[in-house]
Amino acid sequence: MTSKTNLTINPQRLWDSLMETARFGATPKGGIKRLTVSDEDKLVRDWFKAQCEALGCKVQVDSVGNMFATRQGKRSDLQPIAMGSHLDTQPTGGKFDGVLGVLGALEAMRTMVDLGYESNAPIMIVNWTNEEGSRFAPAMLCSGVYAGVFDADFAYSREDRQGTRLGDELKRIGYLGTEPVGSHKFQAMFELHIEQGPILEAEARQIGVVTGVQGMRWYEVTVRGQESHTGATPMGLRKNALLGAARMIEAIHAVGMNHLPGVASVGLIENKPNSRNVVPGEVFFTVDLRHPDESVLDRMEKEYRDALPGIAAELNLECEEKRIWNSPAVKFAPELIECVRAGARQAGYSSREMASGAGHDAAYIARVAPTTMIFVPCLGGISHNEAESTSFDECGAGSQVLLNAVLAYDRKFA
Ligand SMILES: [Zn+2]
Repeated sequence: MTSKTNLTINPQRLWDSLMETARFGATPKGGIKRLTVSDEDKLVRDWFKAQCEALGCKVQVDSVGNMFATRQGKRSDLQPIAMGSHLDTQPTGGKFDGVLGVLGALEAMRTMVDLGYESNAPIMIVNWTNEEGSRFAPAMLCSGVYAGVFDADFAYSREDRQGTRLGDELKRIGYLGTEPVGSHKFQAMFELHIEQGPILEAEARQIGVVTGVQGMRWYEVTVRGQESHTGATPMGLRKNALLGAARMIEAIHAVGMNHLPGVASVGLIENKPNSRNVVPGEVFFTVDLRHPDESVLDRMEKEYRDALPGIAAELNLECEEKRIWNSPAVKFAPELIECVRAGARQAGYSSREMASGAGHDAAYIARVAPTTMIFVPCLGGISHNEAESTSFDECGAGSQVLLNAVLAYDRKFA
């Protein structure tokens, strides 16, 4: 009988699996191009299915290709405890985004099987289809279907840039399951993921205890002035839309600085006519505001909106603004967060609490089941990049804390 508090994962076996599956879609620069529901995705799915079946897990596929690998526990009256993430990547993706969450879960499962550990509840690994959204928009599509945010027909009808439909591709690669989406129920989900930001590395902490996902609001702004000759128009008589936009960008930056850890960004700007000897007549730019707390996000929105008219008036400009997207902040389940905290402590890892800056499958799943996430650092905070890197030790730490957290949660059913 294995001790209930001392199951140790095998970091070498995890690393070998990460490197082995990195061959499916390997790029010359050391990354992975494994777009969802592509030939490469089929290869990694087949591999994953075979590995889970070798452990005695039952592997099921729902009608949008989400994969569920389940190992029975001592009690058949309980729904499984899930560990889930995604095996698809960006076109120039790294080896860890999503993949670590699935293979770290596989390593946790292998450890339980190797040591003959019997959990109380069944334990499940989930591979969510199309998290990245780069081939078929939007992102987090099939965890979204599971959570009731989208319906399956919407998912099938998504087209890539060649006009190929996601539904047809699922069928082609053999992962159009027959079981209805949502029929594979679980009582909780833990998602291990790389941080995709620089905080853990900067603070030299090993584990991020993720308390939620930031709320995100997107806006579009158009500033209108007057195109005129740069040589012939005196400074005092200009209606310079780009100057207005520049001051607005400063004001938006200040909104972020005033509400840390909130962030406020202008990432896209179009200047018209964009000619060296014309005073700019019109500027379009985007605004992205994020904060873990909706009420602070409301204040950030107000502060940003209040700033624009004054800047425009001072420069004789007109300004139009609208919100185009709102993704509410997600709070993860306190009971699961406590399991992650305890799991990190038990393994002797330093940790800090944080909100996720990026969207994840867990953000949708949190709408239908208690959910949380575990972060590990990534080198330089770089992700969605072939250079994305998380070390051997960091991957092992993540998988260990995932296992510890799942078992801590499972213990209450003894
Ligand atoms: Zn991801």
